[in-house]
Amino acid sequence: MKLYLVIPCYNEEAVLPETAKRLREKYDALMSEGKISADSRIVFVNDGSKDKTWEMIEDLHRADPVFRGICLSRNKGHQNALMAGLMTVKDECDAAISMDADLQDDINAIDAMVDKYAEGYEVVYGVRSSRKKDTFFKRTTAQGFYKVMKSMGVETVYNHADYRLMSARALHALSEFDEVNLFLRGIVPLVGFKSAEVTYERGERFAGESKYPLKKMISFATEGITSMSVKPIRMIAALGLLVFLVSIGVLIYSVIRKFTGYTVEGWAFLAVSIWALGGVQLLAIGVIGEYIGKIYLETKHRPKYIISEYLRDD
Ligand code: UDP
Ligand code: MG
Repeated sequence: MKLYLVIPCYNEEAVLPETAKRLREKYDALMSEGKISADSRIVFVNDGSKDKTWEMIEDLHRADPVFRGICLSRNKGHQNALMAGLMTVKDECDAAISMDADLQDDINAIDAMVDKYAEGYEVVYGVRSSRKKDTFFKRTTAQGFYKVMKSMGVETVYNHADYRLMSARALHALSEFDEVNLFLRGIVPLVGFKSAEVTYERGERFAGESKYPLKKMISFATEGITSMSVKPIRMIAALGLLVFLVSIGVLIYSVIRKFTGYTVEGWAFLAVSIWALGGVQLLAIGVIGEYIGKIYLETKHRPKYIISEYLRDD
């Protein structure tokens, strides 16, 4: 079987040499066991890095044809870089595994993924059995995120990030999803096909810093929710209804007050109501705006990424 690894890299010069070395060793082992064919490849996608990442990928490719490089014309974010890699290799391989450059996701799980593929599974999800090595902050925010996604009705695999194997057939099906607002973790389950899970322990990033600071994590989470679910809009509609019902109650209350006595001291209540309603309305408009923004971007049909170079041996 011809296996391709797709690895998005953004400013990863600190980890790249070590990552390449470990993956080469893994590939040697898999090849000598006959699990993958000799023409399997490791493809690094340079997501507009500002450091020496691309030069390093070029060197790796020159020294060893097992390594390939795809260079995006600018930084487009993890999800788009991943998509660029997967879509570029989908016609060349039997299956592709996507993983991060920092090897936080145990590369020994590749064996089990390949076995599952051989058993006939077309999508194999890598699932983290524990996140002990993650910081407390990362762990709680990430797990909270999976729970929120679930409550929003988005089908995701719990504790699965973007470490997964997809067959060429599944990749072709994925290419039919023509959306600009890309949230792969939510889309892959929609692709369907026979799927399996492989568990592993998530390790530490061995060098360099996380490329997902809090700001990116929040935008990734809102992206995930608003591109996969319309529940927030419905929740706001429900909130609107509730507020309306409350206002009827207030109306009845104020009529009673009117006929039972002096009411000028109620100004505080009025002032609070105006502010509360104004707040709810702004919130509602904001959420609706988020979706309209998405529609706007989708109708433009802009390319998700532009490849400036593809280093390949043949
Ligand atoms: N990444 C990318 N483009 C970006 C940000 C990140 O291609 O704009 C890549 C990064 O190089 C890494 C992967 O996405 O291979 C995951 O990033 P990281 O390990 O920093 O995230 P974390 O493990 O902290 O969630
Ligand atoms: Mg990482």
